[in-house]
Amino acid sequence: MTSIKVAINGFGTIGKRVADAVDAQDDMEIVGVTKTGPSFGCDLAVKKGFPLYCTFDEPDRIARFSEQGYNCLGGLSYLMAVADVVVDCSPGKMGADNLAKYQSAGVKYLFQGGEKHELTGRSYTSSANHKENLGVEGVRVVSCNTTGLSRTLVPLYEYCGSLKVECTMIRRAADPGDSSKGPINAIKPVLKVPSHHGPDVMTVKPEIEINSLAVAVPTTIMHLHAIIADLPEGHGLTTDAILAMWEETPRVIVMNGSDNRITTTAEVMEMARDIGRKWGDLHEIFVWEDGVSLVGNRLYYFQAIHQESDVIPENVDAIRAVMGIDMDWRTSVAKTDAAISAYYNL
Ligand code: NAD
Repeated sequence: MTSIKVAINGFGTIGKRVADAVDAQDDMEIVGVTKTGPSFGCDLAVKKGFPLYCTFDEPDRIARFSEQGYNCLGGLSYLMAVADVVVDCSPGKMGADNLAKYQSAGVKYLFQGGEKHELTGRSYTSSANHKENLGVEGVRVVSCNTTGLSRTLVPLYEYCGSLKVECTMIRRAADPGDSSKGPINAIKPVLKVPSHHGPDVMTVKPEIEINSLAVAVPTTIMHLHAIIADLPEGHGLTTDAILAMWEETPRVIVMNGSDNRITTTAEVMEMARDIGRKWGDLHEIFVWEDGVSLVGNRLYYFQAIHQESDVIPENVDAIRAVMGIDMDWRTSVAKTDAAISAYYNL
């Protein structure tokens, strides 16, 4: 089996995690990662043995790496020449420039949720639309919030056949490594109403009717979603049946908060650190069992999202999709997750 040659453009919060997840797989390999210039992030690439390239082709920018003692193999176009697919992990809204470079190099591409759906015209989550994206030129892997909503709502939709959803996204203000964002002592409503998060789910599952509000709060560790979903008449579900469905759903963890003393996002993150993935990541969406309640046709629940990592395994599945690997989504998800677990000896 020849392995898929994967390039990572932008080796930051998401890029370094996707690189590890790809490195864990037996059907793909990292052929290079880019940095905009020499910085401590280059040391991680060197330690992992990932070939280091410059995000740009200008010779003076490439030269800066060797001035700081790093072996940079060239600019982005050199990396594109040896890649089958590039995972764009640049900061949001840089996609348009980069897309033109990928298309002219003739490589497949993945973008992240900081880009708009319109950039690629195709958005992706593993459970919602893997099959529809087999062999396409490129996709946008949706944001951490949209991925989280999709994980629990898609199986519910598949069972019920229709869903109307309202949700409030209580968002972390910034990632732990990001000192430039706030608020640090305030609660900031997103005044664009409805927020983009709910409707973004419809880019992967248009059949789900969903709207959202968002608020940023001074925490760095997780997002929390408060969700109200109206199920159709005659759905035949109970709270227990919904919990059982989510327990069978890949990349969803259902736990009783009171029994396990996991009543806040801080404790969820502590549990994630115990699991032992690098950076204390939690790829799964965490649903509090005792916070789920079906009242008539209306379902209430809370879930927590580790914003830096829930999209990581989706990127691996999306690589298989765009490369046209004929594998159904559940098989890809199981393969991805088993390889990541083995990689970290879990
Ligand atoms: P980041 O700032 O941590 O990393 C971005 C990296 O890209 C940095 O190393 C930066 O130097 C590099 N870069 C800068 N300009 C570039 C360019 N023109 N081309 C390529 N690389 C460039 O950002 P991040 O948090 O990893 O976010 C990357 C993408 O993932 C964004 O679209 C973001 O919205 C999305 N995303 C982020 C999170 C999160 O919580 N951090 C979660 C899901 C999705």
